[in-house]
Amino acid sequence: MFLEASSPTSVAFYPHRRRRRQQQQQQQHGARSSSSSRLPTTTTTTTFAVSSSSSGKTTTEPDAIVSVKLDQNRDYPIYIGSELMSERGDLLRKHIKGDTVLIVTNETIAPLYLDKVKESLSSSSSSSSSSPSTTKELRIESVILPDGEEYKNLDVLDLIFEKALESRLDRKTTFIALGGGVIGDMTGFAASAYQRGVNFIQIPTTVMAMVDSSVGGKTGVNHKKGKNMIGAFYQPQCVFVDIDSLNSLPEREYNSGIAEVIKYGLIRDAKFFDWIEQNADKLQKKAIDRKSLVYAIQRSCENKAEVVELDEKESGLNVRATLNLGHTFGHAIETGVGYGEYLHGEAVSIGTAMAADLSYRLGWIDEKLQARTVDLLKRFDLPIEVPEGSMTKQKFMDLMAVDKKASQGKMNFILLKGDLGGCVFTGDFDQTKLQETLESFVR
Ligand code: NAD
Ligand code: MG
Repeated sequence: MFLEASSPTSVAFYPHRRRRRQQQQQQQHGARSSSSSRLPTTTTTTTFAVSSSSSGKTTTEPDAIVSVKLDQNRDYPIYIGSELMSERGDLLRKHIKGDTVLIVTNETIAPLYLDKVKESLSSSSSSSSSSPSTTKELRIESVILPDGEEYKNLDVLDLIFEKALESRLDRKTTFIALGGGVIGDMTGFAASAYQRGVNFIQIPTTVMAMVDSSVGGKTGVNHKKGKNMIGAFYQPQCVFVDIDSLNSLPEREYNSGIAEVIKYGLIRDAKFFDWIEQNADKLQKKAIDRKSLVYAIQRSCENKAEVVELDEKESGLNVRATLNLGHTFGHAIETGVGYGEYLHGEAVSIGTAMAADLSYRLGWIDEKLQARTVDLLKRFDLPIEVPEGSMTKQKFMDLMAVDKKASQGKMNFILLKGDLGGCVFTGDFDQTKLQETLESFVR
């Protein structure tokens, strides 16, 4: 299978903002480049403008909306913008059918954003509105989980069920995930099972969750015998990306998420890869250019949405599997070096450098593309080497053999092939080249 680079899809980008916000962000991020960032043009399908409510107050509109198209009326929007959490409770409210919600978050995020979301939701339900769905009083419950991948398990999941039952939440309730990928995966899975399925909404607060985990409906928890082994495909009602929440995200976490952004360019979107290269300075955590960041998230979500639309449940087509570029090597590194040593995106970054190396050794890509891949990862301070003394060739082989992408005794990889934006999912290649790649990375 050979996947060509895709062209941008039809999603709107609206670079209007109020001056007050620009001033605020300049204070938050320090001076930034006067942004005439050259954003690729996208076709407009949905139009938004700054609108006024009956009281004359200006309303914050999302900068972009990406639509995820699924069968059986399961389409959902991804709203991307600033100040959405604090000011657009009404927009969230539109996607809440019943009159109860359960916000699931963790002990790090709760003090930062929980009240904000609660307040904007409750003011939206008490304010006068023409839409009947937004006039009902909303009962808002919340549960705060411990923070960390080690708590993404069935025991901690039960805290969500306990809270929901204790609060007598019925089948019309909506679960809201407020946090990174761990919270999103757990909340989605809990929503899929609570009373055989309740609605859920994602409010991702990490780059990783905004561009990857909140989109596509994979939910679940880890089991002691394997990561993400217990779960369900379960799609949200909407995804609500407020980029302001990234202000509090540590830079290392931010860059880890960017590894997945770069991935979309490499596997299917050459134009996007070019754009990231040209705008890498504007995507640095220390000097974020708002418009560029919105575009990077938007284009990543469009790419993920397109893949999910083609292959929602990772069927025999193996289209969805291409999202795992660098992940076979990366998972081996996460396990082999020790969980917690590397963030997921960091391990994927090393894995991507290894996949590019192997693709080059096989003669499938040219030297220039291999170099561009590594250089772009490095611009976000992402690691591209296996730490000395941490892995052996045999350890790599053993760990990769148990990776879920190994089937029928063959180890499958996502490798780059042809021009930028092309990749293949395959186990059919000269295995001596794999040994050469391992040899050159293991020190
Ligand atoms: P995470 O959820 O653990 O978040 C990283 C850290 O940042 C946590 O300590 C969190 O509390 C903190 N944090 C989150 N938002 C913050 C903010 N705005 N300000 C300050 N701190 C903040 O990790 P992640 O990288 O977001 O997600 C990783 C998880 O996502 C893994 O469990 C992985 O399996 C899963 N994942 C799932 C999919 C999918 O398709 N479902 C895809 C990719 C990753
Ligand atoms: Mg990943």
